[in-house]
Amino acid sequence: MNIMNSYSLTTNLVHAGEENICEGAVCTPIFQSSTYLTQENEKEYHDGRYIRLNNTPNQISLAKKLACIEKGELACLFPSGMSAISMTMLTLLKEKDTIVAQKCLYGATLKLMKYEFPKLGIHTKFIDIDMPNTWGDSVNSSAKVLYIEAITNPLLEVVDFQKIVYFAKENGLITIIDNTFATPINFNPIELGFDLVIHSCSKYMSGHMDIVAGCVIGKKELVEKIIQKTNYMGSCLDPNVCFLLMRSMPTLELRVKMQNINALRLAQFLENHSSVKRVIYPGLVSHPNHQQAKQYFSGYGGMLCFELKSTTKTSVQEFLTLLRIPLLAPSLGGIKTLITRPALTSHVMLPLEKEKLDITLEMIRVSVGIESIDDLIKDFDNALSTAVP
Ligand SMILES: *Cc1c(COP(=O)(O)O)cnc(C)c1O
Repeated sequence: MNIMNSYSLTTNLVHAGEENICEGAVCTPIFQSSTYLTQENEKEYHDGRYIRLNNTPNQISLAKKLACIEKGELACLFPSGMSAISMTMLTLLKEKDTIVAQKCLYGATLKLMKYEFPKLGIHTKFIDIDMPNTWGDSVNSSAKVLYIEAITNPLLEVVDFQKIVYFAKENGLITIIDNTFATPINFNPIELGFDLVIHSCSKYMSGHMDIVAGCVIGKKELVEKIIQKTNYMGSCLDPNVCFLLMRSMPTLELRVKMQNINALRLAQFLENHSSVKRVIYPGLVSHPNHQQAKQYFSGYGGMLCFELKSTTKTSVQEFLTLLRIPLLAPSLGGIKTLITRPALTSHVMLPLEKEKLDITLEMIRVSVGIESIDDLIKDFDNALSTAVP
């Protein structure tokens, strides 16, 4: 199947990237070979087949599928989401360039921009995403890249994407969006004009909480540059992990649609519960960005946050230990419901940001899985009535 074809996303999730049937196998087998016989048409370094050069059969097949479902021209795979983010930025930016970015970002991304890139002379101007009239203040001739997230962590903010793309184009900025939380099922940023889409495939894309991987998808000329730089910097996704991610892709839509439904039901339940102070979920009318989420997304995702009415430390802790189905663990996007306290995990190394961004110690983040929503609601109800009487 071609990358640009007329099939629906549903069909492409199942079939795309697997046109080269090998030995009659109906799945792409694992090609566990680091190097390959020299071919006549190899002209330059990047043509030689080698796992680090990101061009062996499992890597190519998976990259094609990912590009196809995000409606991009080309994809590059990485051994983690953070390596996708750092390699993309290191390819596009050099000393004295600046990044224009949204204030509330994934903790490690924020740390990279605030503390690591400045050591290389690459600085970041953070913009208030809700105040478009101030965006222009952050742009001068050194600004090269605009970086945002489809849904932020943990406040689940949703940007006016059309406005931000228009702003970036006007100012000649390359637009990059981390689409991990929304997934290609709920949102296709490339259709709106974004240049590059990044995923931590460790989350919804793989969905089974058993691998770490990342990818960047988008314009061919940009992704080719990223691949070449990556080939020298040395990061690559192992064929075994490619196989596992490939194996997860056909069920992406089934999983995410279930997670959309479960998260909305759980958010509605919590919002109506007398022991809950507030619920943050883009699918709720009470969310400040609900209109934008409704306009741009075909589903509101599987992530929600909430706070208990009684906010003593002990009741939060007690509540968490009373839950029987969700597992207390960081990360997200998997088939099992996971719970964390962002103030103690993803944003633990960012004390100042926590306060500024309104990430309280009491905040509980739920990554809703594909369990029965009736069981989940019963479980939450029990824990709530015991911990917050
Ligand atoms: C997890 C995550 C990352 C980092 O991905 P890893 O695979 O853990 O390196 C980046 N962005 C977002 C939004 C994430 O949730």
